[in-house]
Amino acid sequence: MSEAHTPLPVATEVEQLLLRLGVPREAHTGGELTVRSPVSGEVIAQVRQTTPGEATDTIGRAHAAYKAWRNVPAPRRGELVRLLGEELRAAKRDLGRLVTLEAGKIPSEGAGEVQEMIDICDFAVGLSRQLYGLTLATERAEHRMMETWHPLGVCGVISAFNFPVAVWSWNAALALVCGDSVVWKPSEKTPLTALAVHAIAQRAIERFGDAPEGLLGLLLGQRDIGEVLVDDHRVPILSATGSTAMGRQVGPKLAARFARAILELGGNNAAIVTPSADLDLTLRGIAFAAMGTAGQRCTTLRRLFVHDSVYDQLVPKLAKVYGNVQVGDPREAGTLVGPLIDRAAFDGMQKALGESREAGATVHGGQRVEGIGTNDAYYARPALVELKSHAGPVLRETFAPILYVVRYSTLDEAIEWHNEVGAGLSSSIFTLNVREAERFMSSAGSDCGIANVNIGPSGAEIGGAFGGEKETGGGREAGSDSWKAYMRRATNTINYSTALPLAQGVTFDIGE
Ligand code: NAD
Repeated sequence: MSEAHTPLPVATEVEQLLLRLGVPREAHTGGELTVRSPVSGEVIAQVRQTTPGEATDTIGRAHAAYKAWRNVPAPRRGELVRLLGEELRAAKRDLGRLVTLEAGKIPSEGAGEVQEMIDICDFAVGLSRQLYGLTLATERAEHRMMETWHPLGVCGVISAFNFPVAVWSWNAALALVCGDSVVWKPSEKTPLTALAVHAIAQRAIERFGDAPEGLLGLLLGQRDIGEVLVDDHRVPILSATGSTAMGRQVGPKLAARFARAILELGGNNAAIVTPSADLDLTLRGIAFAAMGTAGQRCTTLRRLFVHDSVYDQLVPKLAKVYGNVQVGDPREAGTLVGPLIDRAAFDGMQKALGESREAGATVHGGQRVEGIGTNDAYYARPALVELKSHAGPVLRETFAPILYVVRYSTLDEAIEWHNEVGAGLSSSIFTLNVREAERFMSSAGSDCGIANVNIGPSGAEIGGAFGGEKETGGGREAGSDSWKAYMRRATNTINYSTALPLAQGVTFDIGE
């Protein structure tokens, strides 16, 4: 066997990667937070958790840093993000590999996640010279009215395990050019990649030279540490990525103190396959969207509505692809489906499949794949579930590789089912019919934040605004004008006349 087929033990490789990435040994040994690799199920680190007192201090330092950073010209702030992009380019290979070992993604997806960080840095550097406001027509003579955009404060970021590094960068790159400081609470399941990102960012800060101390903070621990960030009045904006259950707890607390919330929550994404669809392309699009990242993307395709006339052509082929796809250690060449994050994910998957069987569905795959790593590694064959009706567990997000398939006969019916679930993140239609495509993207079509034609619902680029409606939380991150959420808008009216005309013709004569 060649060396490529006998990778190092996961714990050894993780230790080497962390050393190369610049994470001090004491940060990941001897602490209370146990980190397991989903690849092998082994314990790979014991991370020191942040105490609530330390979290409060970190927020305090970030608040002080914001007060200095907001006065730095935006293009100069962009220079820090440019350096961050450079450091990420240099670290791409090692950080991508660490994502594979800590979150279980196949190597091209691990590297792709780091590429996404680099892309958003590039975007934000350009943005640092384009934080445009408007000049507005005023009804009063010799007056000028305009909008100016100002930094907001400390931007809190809470992130999920499945995009352990990219989500921070979507927020941090924008927040930094917008003049905000950032405090990040990553998932308790993926603190190592967060430590690595912070070490990388530290190098960018050192090269930059005069960034205020405390500009980027990191809080490691469980949800209680996240709660410190949610509750602190010095955090006027919080971006929280994770389950809808988390959003239900976090959202009302932020609303109660009038903080701005960017909620990026669960998805239950669907695609519609119409009679005119290019079925080869459709098959490939479905395969990546439904099985990629082992079904653990917020944008994973979970529901497929297939028209009666093409069902018997498409679904048996899909079942064959599901039967043949290589499930296994993501470090092995040819693997397309890696592990589930942990036992709870596997149990959730089996529960949903059990409920589907009881409801009379035909289930292909879904069983545990034994013999990879320790007993604490959970690999499962992706499941294709042919349903009799759009009811039962299909209506909720199960964060695992399950694709539910339902037959439909009219587009109206398919769109109605499509929009019937709580979540509203991403969606697709596979069709060569322009009327169907336009209808799907129209106000009477998909109710999601993302609606695609002839590509699956997953795999977004950073240039667009990312996020979803309804129980997905309504937040938008990344491209387009998402930056506006990280800034405070002021409307300014300037009078350069000697008179004082009031708007709407109001008079207020004080007699002088
Ligand atoms: P999770 O909700 O269990 O945890 C997410 C983060 O929230 C973690 O850091 C956790 O510690 C923190 N948290 C949980 N409850 C909290 C509370 N009450 N106060 C403060 N912090 C709290 O999610 P997960 O299992 O890590 O990730 C999977 C979920 O995330 C899925 O539902 C997926 O769809 C969603 N997700 C959404 C997006 C998106 O952009 N819409 C992206 C990635 C993942």
